[in-house]
This record gives sequence, C-alpha cells and structure tokens, in this order.
Amino acid sequence: MSSVVTDLKPLFGESLHEPLYIAGPCSAESREQLLAAARGIAEAGVEILRAGVWKPRTKPGSFEGIGSQALEWLREAKQELGLRVITEVATPEHLELALKADIDGVWIGARTTTNPFAMQQIADALRGVDTTVIVKNPVIPDVDLWVGAIERVYNSDVRRLAAVHRGFGTHQTTPYRNAPHWSVPIELHRRIPAMPILSDPSHIGGNRTLVAQLSQQALDLGFSGLMIECHPAPERALSDAQQQITPAVLKELLATLALRRTPAGKDALSDYRLHIDTIDSRIIELLAERMDVARAIGDYKRKHDMAVVQHDRYNELLLAAEAKAEVMSISKQFIHQIFSAIHEESVRQQLEVREEEKKK
Ligand code: PEP
Ligand code: MN
Repeated sequence: MSSVVTDLKPLFGESLHEPLYIAGPCSAESREQLLAAARGIAEAGVEILRAGVWKPRTKPGSFEGIGSQALEWLREAKQELGLRVITEVATPEHLELALKADIDGVWIGARTTTNPFAMQQIADALRGVDTTVIVKNPVIPDVDLWVGAIERVYNSDVRRLAAVHRGFGTHQTTPYRNAPHWSVPIELHRRIPAMPILSDPSHIGGNRTLVAQLSQQALDLGFSGLMIECHPAPERALSDAQQQITPAVLKELLATLALRRTPAGKDALSDYRLHIDTIDSRIIELLAERMDVARAIGDYKRKHDMAVVQHDRYNELLLAAEAKAEVMSISKQFIHQIFSAIHEESVRQQLEVREEEKKK
C-alpha cells in the first residue's frame, strides 16, 4: 500500500539533530516555571520546547491551562534560548493564536486526533501555513484513524509533519497509563515510511519511574525521537505530576540512552528484529489480558464456592490448543508446555484473588 504522504520537508524548517528530542512541561503554569523548564531542557541539549497552554482534561475542574497568555512565555523562551517552541492546538482558534505568537509548530492531542470533524477543522485552518504539525495517536489503537488525521493535515499542503506515539487508553490492568501497543506505530511507519515518528514515554508510562525504560525501548524499535515531559518541580505540577521528570534527570537520561547503530529499515536483520520485538510485546500484552480474565473467573469461583482448578475444562483447553498448533505447523509438545505454564500462572492469580479477599 503506497501512501499519499510522500514529499515531506524537514521539521521546523531545517534539520535538527537526530534522534529528535522534544521536552518541556505538561502545562505552562507560570512565567518562572516555564523559563526554568526551558533553561533546563536547553542545558540537557534539547532543541525543542513543548508546553501545553490549553489542556484537554479528563476530569472537569482540573487545571485547564493558562490559555493564550502563556504563549508569550513560550515566545520569551524562544528568544532567550534559541529553542523551537510548540504547543497543543485543538481548535482553529487555538491555531490562530499560536501562529500569531510566533510558535514554531503545534501538536494535535490524542483526544483531537480521535475526532475526524475536529481534525478537518484544524486541517482547513492549516491551509497555506508553513509550520510543523505533530499528530499524536488517537486514544484508541486504530491505525486508520491515525493515518486519516495525518492525511487531512497533509491534504492541506502541510509538509513538515511528524507523529507522536503516546499509547492507547485501555480498561485492562497494565503497568502503563496508556498501553503502548507497539505494533500500531510500527504499522504507521510501514504505511508512511517518509514520516518521522516519535514516542512519548511520559504519557505511555504515566509514571516517571517508567520513562527511561520506555525511552530506550522506543529507540531500540527505531523511533525517530522522543517527546518527554519535564518540569522544574514535578511533584508540584498542576497536571501530570507523576510522570514528569526534572531537567537534571532528563539530562542524565539522554546521556545514557543507547542509540541504534543500524536504524530500522537499513538492513533486513534489523527489520526482522523489530518485527520480533513487536510480536513479543503483543504476546506479553495478550498474556496480561488473559490474566485479567483469569482473575475475574477466580473471583466468580470464589463467590460461587467452586474449586480453583476445573480439570475437565483444563483438558479441553489443552486439546484445543494442541489441535490448533498442529494445523499451524508448530509442535504439539511446545504448545503443551506453553499452555501448562499459562495455566499454572492463571491458577496462581486465582489463588491470589482468594488470598486478597481473605485479608479484606
Ligand atoms: C500532552 O501532551 O500533555 C497531552 C495532553 O497529551 P495527549 O494528547 O497525548 O494526552
Ligand atoms: Mn501531559
């Protein structure tokens, strides 16, 4: 499938260093906070400052951003430090105000990408504007929706285009705030190979302890860069306090990340490995989903006074898996081993549910 998105230009009008790093606070909160963040990220070697000015919040009554006044602080950071500055726009009015304030680029947030009407309105307002547009993934793991949003912007003649992978909303229990579903951005890359894709470990992890490992994983998977939330005093942040890191931690992180010597797509072996890594991530995600269901079953059995292990059911499950394995040319013995291990873990999880209930 060949993409309509082809003749792209460098982001921000000139080539920046690779990998491309974007950092800055979730929200601009005050002039002092924003300038401290800007100085901190510049000191860490980052060339692009992000800060939300209008914040889409899940819960009403949360801090919804300072609004257009904060654009002046971004302009000041740009003048003082020579940084490129970007903010989130969700409406044509936001875009107009951001462009008036001499912003170098805008990002479209996950909630906006999810809505084709909103995307079309922003795309229409972008016609004839030479700026950088970064499209975050939609809230749901639907690559077509993401591609559609990007194509709307591209069809308005925007050529400085990138995507940001920030993970996907999920009801499952995962260690992450937003499930990574790595196969989705990898599929996006396959569909639009010309476009840089960055990863946002802050919104995926939702917790600063996960930022380093998610950043390394993204670079290992061949992403073009990272967007990281960075705040001078994260614990006092007015939004996303748990996931932001200090400029000092950012500097240390960027210094310790290992860069791939052979970027994705440069040779067949690295492509195969990329594919394997994605499949492995999916296997783990699926296993976690299975364990969630197992725990729900555990709860049901406890309430109905049933034994944890139902031998007939286990036998049926093993036979079905073995039969399927045979059709797909993988060894029955191998599948037997895997499913015994999976079943063992399910039983352990169900026993754990009982123990937890007893403690209550
Ligand atoms: C953000 O970048 O602060 C933000 C709101 O992101 P997302 O749209 O990914 O939730
Ligand atoms: Mn945020």
